[in-house]
Amino acid sequence: MLAQLLGRGTALGLCLSGCRSFSALAELPDTHQILRQTCRDFADRELTPIAGRLDREHAFPLKQVQELGAMGVMAMEVPEELGGAGMDYLAYSLAVEEISRGCASTGCVVSVNNSLYIGPVLKFGTEEQKTEWITPFTTGEKVGCFALSEPGNGSDAGAASTVARQEGDEWVLNGTKAWITNSWDAAATVVFATTDKKLKHKGISAFLIPMPHPGLSLGKKEDKLGIKATSTANIILEDCRVPLGNMLGPRGAGFKIAMQTLDSGRIGIAAQALGIAQASLDCAADYAHKRIAFGAPIGKLQAVQFKLADMNVAVESARLLTWKAALLRDSKKPFTKEAAMAKLTASEAVTFCSHQAIQVLGGMGYVSDMPAERHYRDARITEIYEGTSEIQRLVIAGQILKEYQA
Ligand SMILES: Cc1cc2nc3c(=O)[nH]c(=O)nc-3n(C[C@H](O)[C@H](O)[C@H](O)COP(=O)(O)OP(=O)(O)OC[C@H]3O[C@@H](n4cnc5c(N)ncnc54)[C@H](O)[C@@H]3O)c2cc1C
Repeated sequence: MLAQLLGRGTALGLCLSGCRSFSALAELPDTHQILRQTCRDFADRELTPIAGRLDREHAFPLKQVQELGAMGVMAMEVPEELGGAGMDYLAYSLAVEEISRGCASTGCVVSVNNSLYIGPVLKFGTEEQKTEWITPFTTGEKVGCFALSEPGNGSDAGAASTVARQEGDEWVLNGTKAWITNSWDAAATVVFATTDKKLKHKGISAFLIPMPHPGLSLGKKEDKLGIKATSTANIILEDCRVPLGNMLGPRGAGFKIAMQTLDSGRIGIAAQALGIAQASLDCAADYAHKRIAFGAPIGKLQAVQFKLADMNVAVESARLLTWKAALLRDSKKPFTKEAAMAKLTASEAVTFCSHQAIQVLGGMGYVSDMPAERHYRDARITEIYEGTSEIQRLVIAGQILKEYQA
């Protein structure tokens, strides 16, 4: 649908030519403006009105995900011949921001399917694997998940204790993966497991497993602070057998696949944070016009104005970093540092903005009649998953030290 809207055949070409230029940081190319407005309209119409209910009922946004699939948003970067929208990462980050502005949980589902599940298959899969494991996941009928973390190791992902041993023409997997987003709603997962323990992180390999599948079971749904309309649970593997052909990438390349996937994924989390931050600002600015105190709208008070100004500066700074990281990736230039900077800045910006929005709303910020309290709860995860803020700082510092060594 997006490709049609933007003119099939011109979508990809325009995206690429328009966005390799950093002038896109000042003004988006027409294609991207149309895409952004389309996603914004969808969020205003289909997500904002129901986000509070989805949160209260912990309800997976099935219908909305299917509609986003029909639009191309569940597989933004996937070439059209495989069923995707054939667009670039700047387009993806704009879509995730706008969707998350309407509903952070839906933004999270979009982000996991695009960057954590489809991303590694697109980059490291064989042609057969792409057809089998990507195409059915482009429409929103099926979503995928990404199982790296374990109960004993999250930040230290190289210490995976899940094992895969070869038995005849099968891999047999045993272990527990923790915190897996989409797990209860997913039709497949990328799983990371050790095939050669003595090689440590260089002995980790990646596997594709359909869901449900014999030997794979799910733990209880986690009772979370925010993004409550997404499912998060353990994936338990007990003699879970898959054909040898279900290995993704070469044996021992799993850690590299995971780290490269997270580099890209962090741009999506930055965009998710931006969407929630923008929604917080929208809510606070609107309320500042409407709420009367001491005979005038509170927006007349300098104390409130300063909060709005600081929020807007935080959002816009983070947005530029996010777009820069996406543009570097689209230009096939190194972007590890910029992606970590974007995620760090955007996640801290949304923590700040959602906090300030509650302050602007006063008591109304603290109750679920208004969305500010949901934004505050939804914001917090962006500082934790796909690498905590501490890990982002380590990544950024590591890159700086490398640059200065050269
Ligand atoms: C809602 C939710 C959804 C998630 N979805 C997924 C998913 O789909 N797939 C998946 O694989 N994982 C997922 N995760 C897991 C997530 O990525 C991890 O929780 C995260 O990486 C942190 O790991 P941890 O919880 O083990 O914390 P730990 O690694 O135990 O960290 C605890 C604290 O120590 C700090 N710390 C750890 N190591 C260092 C260090 N070297 N230097 C400085 N500080 C350090 C951390 O920053 C943190 O503050 C999800 C988590 C949540 C809560």
